[in-house]
Amino acid sequence: MDKLLSVIIPAYNEEATVEQAARTVAGVLRDAGIAYELIFVDDGSRDGTWESILRAHEADDGVRGVGFSRNFGKDRAIFAGLSRARGECAAVMDCDLQHPPELLPRMFALWEQGFQVVEGVKRGRGEESALHRLCAGGFYALISRLAKLDMKHSSDFKLLDRKVVDALLSFPEEEVFFRGLTAFVGFERTQVEFDVAQRTAGQSKWSFRSLVRYAISSVTAFSTAPMQLVTVFAVIFALAAVLTGILYAVLGRSPGGWLIFLGCLAVLGIALLLAGLGIAGYYLGRIYRRSLGRPRYLVSRECGR
Ligand code: UDP
Ligand code: MG
Repeated sequence: MDKLLSVIIPAYNEEATVEQAARTVAGVLRDAGIAYELIFVDDGSRDGTWESILRAHEADDGVRGVGFSRNFGKDRAIFAGLSRARGECAAVMDCDLQHPPELLPRMFALWEQGFQVVEGVKRGRGEESALHRLCAGGFYALISRLAKLDMKHSSDFKLLDRKVVDALLSFPEEEVFFRGLTAFVGFERTQVEFDVAQRTAGQSKWSFRSLVRYAISSVTAFSTAPMQLVTVFAVIFALAAVLTGILYAVLGRSPGGWLIFLGCLAVLGIALLLAGLGIAGYYLGRIYRRSLGRPRYLVSRECGR
């Protein structure tokens, strides 16, 4: 029997791209003779995304749809799709066709050769501002270092073996980070390079704020180093205080300058203390949310077999 490939496509306010994505991806897979199901996950869209998914399903019964009760974010949408996938392998890609579907047959062939994680890595980063590129570069360098996961040029465009899908689904945390977790799980891996295409239609959903939130949540999911950073600062400050104390006591400089310097040091110390509390509080918040055991997402509707 033919091996089934599940393609998971998270969609948030993508009424303009869903049907074209369904036609294009299905066309490529049909031409390559790969049995497929396309699972669109409507991440609580406020436009006609769900209706577009229904129309795509009418046109091709290989298309399935899952609709969230509200916007839960791309990563949770991906996990909802993975939980419904019936294939021997599953691919994840964006709805705006920035991840080229023409690559799927090659990724599928690599999977058939025995690779369990086939990662799409970006050759270029498409149309992005210099600031965005700088931030993204910095973020991946930071997380690669802190969490010891190699995520340079990483993207969510991946094809995963059933074993990997099941491994990912066994993670209990509510706040999932798809890119990080697929790097974390290991397995036999290989990469294919791709050029980021232009968005077919619609707009990118990322604002600067959401990117910063995503970055913080991703780093803290894999590393407690920010908390240790506070300890490092504490040591530096203690040393500085002792050294200046000795310096001024021994060399007997005027007490005025000494007091001002120490005052500044104290204020800075308090600021760092508060920052440390904030960082610790962030981790505490994660533990708190985890202890509530709330579901990762809520599904309000589904279509397709
Ligand atoms: N997306 C989603 N939930 C969100 C934001 C985005 O499911 O809260 C989907 C979106 O519909 C698209 C993919 O994630 O299929 C990538 O989003 P986008 O194109 O906005 O990101 P960019 O390509 O600009 O990084
Ligand atoms: Mg995009």
